[in-house]
Amino acid sequence: MSLNNKILLGAILGLLLGYVLRNYAPDSTLTNSIVYGASLVGSLFIGLLKMVLIPLVFSSIVVGVANLRAHQQMHRVWQITLLCFAATTSLAIILGLGAAHLFETGKGLSLHLFEANLQGFEASQLSTAEFLQSLVKNVFVNPFTALSQGNILAVVVFALFIGVALAVNGQAYPKLHALFNEGFALCMQLVNWIMQLAPFGIMALLLKLVVAENSALLSTLAQFMAVVTGTTLFHGLVTLPLLLWLFTRVSPLQFWRGARPALLTAFATSSSAATLPITLNCLQNDLKVSPQVSGFVAPLGAQLNMDGTALYEAAAALFVANLVGLDLSLGQELIICLTVMLASIGAPGIPSAGMVTMVMVLQSVGLPAEAVAILLPIDRLLDTVRTMVNVEGDMVTSLIVDKHSA
Ligand code: ASP
Repeated sequence: MSLNNKILLGAILGLLLGYVLRNYAPDSTLTNSIVYGASLVGSLFIGLLKMVLIPLVFSSIVVGVANLRAHQQMHRVWQITLLCFAATTSLAIILGLGAAHLFETGKGLSLHLFEANLQGFEASQLSTAEFLQSLVKNVFVNPFTALSQGNILAVVVFALFIGVALAVNGQAYPKLHALFNEGFALCMQLVNWIMQLAPFGIMALLLKLVVAENSALLSTLAQFMAVVTGTTLFHGLVTLPLLLWLFTRVSPLQFWRGARPALLTAFATSSSAATLPITLNCLQNDLKVSPQVSGFVAPLGAQLNMDGTALYEAAAALFVANLVGLDLSLGQELIICLTVMLASIGAPGIPSAGMVTMVMVLQSVGLPAEAVAILLPIDRLLDTVRTMVNVEGDMVTSLIVDKHSA
């Protein structure tokens, strides 16, 4: 059986086993021991991915940018990448707002249903101005601090600078250029090994997720969850594949076959960053995207391009507005669009990052930031699908850029 199929099987088994344990042996010793084992395996898998992440992000961006052949190609890659990021995120926001309007999520629900959650919860205040300030402060830092603290955005920026310097004047530093190339190849070798563990890692993570989910709030928020999940899936199954087909003629089936390990890992880990090693592997080996383009677009996308998160935040803002009975004006909805765009760019690719930047979106139009407490208990579940679509957006962009920048 190919690794790709083993990963799918692992995901299905994890979900099934989790379901069986949850329903037929809740809180038994057997279930507790299995969940303990699963969290060990899951942590090992995520730990290995994180171990290779920083050297991989750094070397892949340096190599990706440095190897872009000419300035002309560099410009095209930049332009198409940013255009695709902006276009797919905007479509996601429109879809999120549209769906929330259409289904009027949150209307008719009463706030006191959530009193228990709201009690004692204090949202840390994060205004747009402060957010922008901390973003800038976090991005331009000592590269060694960034590398050692795992500050990916700062690593990305430093790697971009080094990559551009090598692309512009590579002949002056041939040894360093060769060193980065070899470093990148070496990281990918490690990724290949870690991927052998992916079927077990994904199975363990999904099993744990299903067993641990708290179902009390799920029924109250079922409609909102269904709308968000359905719309996110629509973006992932219709909008993105359609764009891909229009611009590259790659069929959705072909894409799914090649992208499957990365999408399932994103689903199970809820982290675009942790998934990145596998995203790169799929792009280069299965979808045949050149290492220059994928090495540049995917790490950047894992940080900046989050369609699923943007869609979720837009829909969630409207949900909260309905819940507290606030009718948003057109101007306020435009403000939401803008802050959601910023918030999805600023959210790091880690689990529940979208929840933190959500505060900023709520505050931008005067909605109570404490409402995040209502969304938190269901976030781990929603994060699965939105992270999957976040990663899909990066992969689709890589394919489009690859096709049109050659
Ligand atoms: N978990 C998401 C990601 O890593 C970010 C989010 O919380 O929306 O892409």
